[in-house]
Amino acid sequence: MAAEVGKKYVIIGNGVAGTTCAQTLRKNDPACDIWLVTNEPYPLYNRVSLPRFLQGVLTEQKVMIRDFAWHEEQRIRLLTETLATRVDTAERVMYLSKGGPLRYDALLVATGGWANPLRVPGAEGVAHIYNFVTLDDTKELIARALESKTAVTSGGSFIAYELTEGFNVRGVHVTWLMRGPYWLRTTLDAEGGRLVDEIATRHGVEVIHGEEIREVVPANGVPSYVVTSTGRHVQSDVIGVGLGLTLNHAFLNDTPIARESGVLTDEYMATNVPGVYAAGDLAEFFDPVIGRHHTMGTWDNAIAHGRVAAVNMAGGHEPYVDVPTYTSPLFDTNIAVMGIAESNNPDLTAVWRLAPGDKGNKDYRKFFFKGNRLVGSVFIGSPKGRKKVVELIRTGLKCATPAEREALFEVR
Ligand SMILES: Cc1cc2nc3c(=O)[nH]c(=O)nc-3n(C[C@H](O)[C@H](O)[C@H](O)COP(=O)(O)OP(=O)(O)OC[C@H]3O[C@@H](n4cnc5c(N)ncnc54)[C@H](O)[C@@H]3O)c2cc1C
Repeated sequence: MAAEVGKKYVIIGNGVAGTTCAQTLRKNDPACDIWLVTNEPYPLYNRVSLPRFLQGVLTEQKVMIRDFAWHEEQRIRLLTETLATRVDTAERVMYLSKGGPLRYDALLVATGGWANPLRVPGAEGVAHIYNFVTLDDTKELIARALESKTAVTSGGSFIAYELTEGFNVRGVHVTWLMRGPYWLRTTLDAEGGRLVDEIATRHGVEVIHGEEIREVVPANGVPSYVVTSTGRHVQSDVIGVGLGLTLNHAFLNDTPIARESGVLTDEYMATNVPGVYAAGDLAEFFDPVIGRHHTMGTWDNAIAHGRVAAVNMAGGHEPYVDVPTYTSPLFDTNIAVMGIAESNNPDLTAVWRLAPGDKGNKDYRKFFFKGNRLVGSVFIGSPKGRKKVVELIRTGLKCATPAEREALFEVR
């Protein structure tokens, strides 16, 4: 690789935020020096495709987005299986688990989150209990699903749903436990939750609310059954754990970089420490659309963060102003979450409706408002009108009267 002169950029995390940042830096500055560091063994792969890989719909090859040759061509120095361990922000030096320290002019932290493990009696040291975040998790899940008859999944958010559907499609009988009264309880309401239960049950999944795994009872080092919080015994050859993420910023503990649940940034993805930026799932960014900081665990958001961070690391001044969207299949239907959709947020009000949809399915729609301003929405069922609603959120539509709010249900 030819020696470069120019600014030196270090990016920690080669997910879609970090890799997009590297790609944008290279495009805008042919002479700069770019280091991309990851603890994983792979170049960028598509996490959003992992559920379809688990189901057997996609091959591993289709999940990969970049290869090592691409990094060579782009003159991006990719360090795999290397952990960022410590940063000295005064000296602008990044320390790694192997290899020498890296000096930087600008640093991007895009380390996402690691899945919370199942911490209950009986779980420690027992095989066949899986999280679902990485390509390696998925390979192990596939191998185990092929040999299992029963599964228990635990959690009330997207990952637990993806695990449930993955096992279900592989012909494993799944019992889905969630502590809350319904799935996605920070976004939906009882009626939307019931609709999701109906869909899952129709596909043969047993859905149990208000219960979580209290104990794993193993036999020969693998799960035999789980005991739930109400004392119910559920047989389980394999356990899928979707209990949220802990964002990866512990390696910044010795720095003055401001953090809450994520790494705090302004709308330019800059932290409070000069030369240090954050992007993707990890960034708790200032969102001018709602006037406060928040994190957003979506693929498109991570891409946009990576691009904007690159522009600003290289001396630009571009804010990140976007309407994040999360779209996902939901068994044989779809869900889309757009903008800020938080049922438990006291600053927001909401209206929702369940209506007959296409092909005998039901359509659930919910709209969220901050004051009179439309800030978010959820669709389950037909996605018709989704793009128009995103545009209405982007342009800050005001709905002062109940009639104006009701009119949103007609947007198609
Ligand atoms: C199974 C699954 C399904 C999903 N489905 C959807 C979907 O349908 N739609 C959607 O919008 N989003 C979906 N998401 C979320 C989406 O994938 C994430 O929002 C996105 O990948 C975040 O990208 P990122 O670059 O911020 O972080 P990540 O992709 O998490 O990348 C961070 C990388 O940094 C590495 N790292 C962490 N700490 C260190 C360290 N100290 N040193 C070196 N490397 C480190 C990590 O191992 C990882 O490789 C899904 C996620 C999963 C897991």
